[in-house]
Amino acid sequence: MHYHLLLTDHCNLCCTYCRGKAFLPDTAPAGPDLDLDWDLPPELEVDLSRLYAFLARDSCPVLTFYGGEPLLRTDLIREIMAHAPVERFLIHTNGLLLERVDPDLLLRFSTILVSLDGPRDLTDRYRGRGTYDAVMRGLRRLRTLGFRGEVIARMTVAEETDIEDAVLHLAEHPAHPFTSLHWQLDANFSGDYRRRDFARWAETSYTPGIRRLVARWVEEMGEYGRVLRWYPFLDTTEDLLRERPSMLRCGSGHANYSILTDGSLTPCPLMVGMRAHYVGHITTSDPGTLPQVPIGGECTGCNLLAFCGGRCLYASILRPWPEEARRTVCATVQGLHDALAGALPQIRGLMAEGRIRMEDFAHEKYNGCEIIP
Ligand code: SF4
Ligand code: SF4
Repeated sequence: MHYHLLLTDHCNLCCTYCRGKAFLPDTAPAGPDLDLDWDLPPELEVDLSRLYAFLARDSCPVLTFYGGEPLLRTDLIREIMAHAPVERFLIHTNGLLLERVDPDLLLRFSTILVSLDGPRDLTDRYRGRGTYDAVMRGLRRLRTLGFRGEVIARMTVAEETDIEDAVLHLAEHPAHPFTSLHWQLDANFSGDYRRRDFARWAETSYTPGIRRLVARWVEEMGEYGRVLRWYPFLDTTEDLLRERPSMLRCGSGHANYSILTDGSLTPCPLMVGMRAHYVGHITTSDPGTLPQVPIGGECTGCNLLAFCGGRCLYASILRPWPEEARRTVCATVQGLHDALAGALPQIRGLMAEGRIRMEDFAHEKYNGCEIIP
């Protein structure tokens, strides 16, 4: 099982699509009454021996350090890496502190997901001036240290993003150290949908950009015989080729659970304090019997469900959008599906010619990439 471990609620950035939204008017979540637990400790406050005992009951636990910004708590990371009965550690970081973390700690991660949104001006507009250069310095250091694991660029995309430009910038930058890319829509509208130009942007910029990127992705297969590790394409296309339906692709609530700062277990790392949706506690639960949380709502009758998996359990529960916004987001899923399904004959042809193989699509699942943006 994969687990996100929330180490701290603190963060050293205030990105426009994340904490920055708290400073906008009228951005309270538009969803149902959530009965939020406001007393959750801001830092991990569990008896670590109980955490280790819980993880020891899992036959194959994989731990992703998460926050806030988890590299603000390298003391805890060091302690947990030294004693937790876990084979592999991942981290989801904003990258600002990568240039300062002790090398021995960095080299123990099997995967590092680093938030970066594309070119310097775009990243700095969303994440704050100087962020791009600081993260790049950290990434170059990773390379100098000889880090051999997976380095995933975790992009957030919104109306100021030209998706084609942003993806190709990170994929082709001469100094780019990423082995893989993933992107996610800022579609947690939290009451700001009416102020945004999301629908027009999704239709006229984002989805056409996805079509061009799929063409580019397939071109790379034909010309160089390589399947680029762009997760929204990689995971979905592997399943299309195998004709395999998918459950919720991020794994939340069936293959991926989150451990909150008080030891409570939730299906998803964003469900902090949503106690009505907690699924257990590290002191009383057994990893093997954690309840599966099915996706509901409109997804159950949707003809894209086998491809999409339901996109996001958190959004399906919280419903932070008017119906029109939900349809707009689902139209982006349809656009992704259509672009990839349209490319399948060409991909199958390249496989038949031996240019690429099924194994080239192999990747770790539930590693923090949500897959459906
Ligand atoms: S496209 Fe929309 S309604 Fe359909 S499964 Fe995905 S999230 Fe659910
Ligand atoms: S896609 Fe949704 S359910 Fe999955 S991890 Fe992200 S917020 Fe949670």
